[in-house]
Amino acid sequence: MKWTETYIPTLREAPADAELISHSLLLRAGYIRKLAAGIYLYLPLMQRVISKFSQIVREEMNAAGALEITMSVLAPAEVWQESGRYDSYGKEQMRIKDRHQREMVLGATHEEVVTQLVRGELKSYKQLPLNLYQIQVKFRDEIRPRFGLMRGREFIMKDAYSFDRDIESHKAAYQKMIDAYFRIFDRAGLDTRKVESDTGAMGGEGAHEFMVIVETTAGEAHLLFCEACDYAANDEKATYIEADPPQVDAEEKPLEKVDTPGAATIEEVTEFLNVDSKRLVKTLLYMADDKPIAALVRGDRDLNLVKLKNACGSVEQPEMADAETVQKETGAPVGFAGPIGLKNIPLYVDQEVVRLKNFVVGANQKDAHYINANIGRDFKAAEVVDLVTAVEGELCPKCKGKLKARKGIEVGNTFMLGTKYSESMNATFLDENGRERNFIMGSYGIGITRTPQAAIERYHDDKGIIWPKNIAPYQVEIVPLNYKQDDLKAAADQIYADLRGAGIDVLLDDRLERAGVKLNDADLIGCPLRITIGAKSLKEGKIELKARCSDEVELVDLTQTVSAVQATLERLK
Ligand SMILES: [Zn+2]
Repeated sequence: MKWTETYIPTLREAPADAELISHSLLLRAGYIRKLAAGIYLYLPLMQRVISKFSQIVREEMNAAGALEITMSVLAPAEVWQESGRYDSYGKEQMRIKDRHQREMVLGATHEEVVTQLVRGELKSYKQLPLNLYQIQVKFRDEIRPRFGLMRGREFIMKDAYSFDRDIESHKAAYQKMIDAYFRIFDRAGLDTRKVESDTGAMGGEGAHEFMVIVETTAGEAHLLFCEACDYAANDEKATYIEADPPQVDAEEKPLEKVDTPGAATIEEVTEFLNVDSKRLVKTLLYMADDKPIAALVRGDRDLNLVKLKNACGSVEQPEMADAETVQKETGAPVGFAGPIGLKNIPLYVDQEVVRLKNFVVGANQKDAHYINANIGRDFKAAEVVDLVTAVEGELCPKCKGKLKARKGIEVGNTFMLGTKYSESMNATFLDENGRERNFIMGSYGIGITRTPQAAIERYHDDKGIIWPKNIAPYQVEIVPLNYKQDDLKAAADQIYADLRGAGIDVLLDDRLERAGVKLNDADLIGCPLRITIGAKSLKEGKIELKARCSDEVELVDLTQTVSAVQATLERLK
């Protein structure tokens, strides 16, 4: 492709509203444009990236025996009502009404639709296993769309659904997808880690995420992994063994209310009472589906909202209660809430709190706390669960090795759904004994538009994008420093024709721009290889070959260009 015949609207300035470098680069380098919050248009360069990545996904899914289909984006609400998710999915589901006022759903995922598809037709165990997938646009009504293609309201996904007759066969199908995922991301030039994750809105029996580890601030999710074994989980899911547990008294002491004037924060209370924050318990008021609940975690810990949502079973993620609600429910301003005497509010208590004795809690009274509080004697828990976000330095739940934290971007996920959908939607087959059974299902997603942005977040420098070769829009960009000059133009055109003849994707910057502008744009859009044609080296019959990921420039004989390009591409990621 010649630059003047395609459309690459690069920008000089970084857009102000892009929080991530990858988002900013996609806009600056002319890959995407924003139409509205969380809604993006893919320009020619991005379209090529999407096509290339989709093709890798398609090839590996097909090789794993999955069959490509296309389901509708639009689905009647009834399909979702059958599974029960029309009510439980929450506000992220994009809904519309048709002209007859019938409720419709714009799909974020297709478990219901695919179950409806096979129900009644996939009747015999002899037709199993079956895995159906599609590459399609999805919708999610994000409360706060941000990070460009990372958290959009419309995006492209590969979603696959497996149907199996029993657990053994399902496990084999699940493993096949895991293996295919590693191959897909490897071909896309991305090292990924498979981590345990929360099943979230999918339900089911287990789930994993594939994460690209990034060193920048962009990682939207933390993941924790063990230095000693293969344990890895995202921080919504990760559990741990405490590395440094606090001292616990032998005996329960009498409960005592003490004045703590002006001490409302953890720091203020621990300083005022001269007590370790591990022996102070925070009582945090949340609204779960509009009902107040309280979560109790140690003073040195962070409450994990996903774990709290799972514990209380709410549809929406619980939201922190406002000051007015805290005052109304506890009779005290924010900072003094405590479990003792808190009426009609279920108390979800973290497991570490249960191991404490004689701890400090708020007294539901301004400027007062209780010391020597004890669970069981002074208040009762609705439920004792793990409510805390794991952090680096704690110990691995499997082997007690040290846990390390990294930032990662989720690019794929896999869910063991069990019979959640086949039971609720009554999808059955006949086994070899003529017995009716529910399918065991799995679902498997890959972010087709998100993965390339994750790749940029992983591979870039201050000049622009550095694409891995297999998902780059073009593998090579030819930059004649002066396209008006006849000999440079002739050499550029010849190399362009030769590379295309050799089946290499090549972009020729045939603009009559200054050399500096063209070189800057080449770095910005990030093709893995650049061929620079300048007057001086061309006099000696040579061109310059440079990989985007390196500073080294190789002088190559004009006649050897194709083989030099092929050899260099071979070496690149
Ligand atoms: Zn371990």
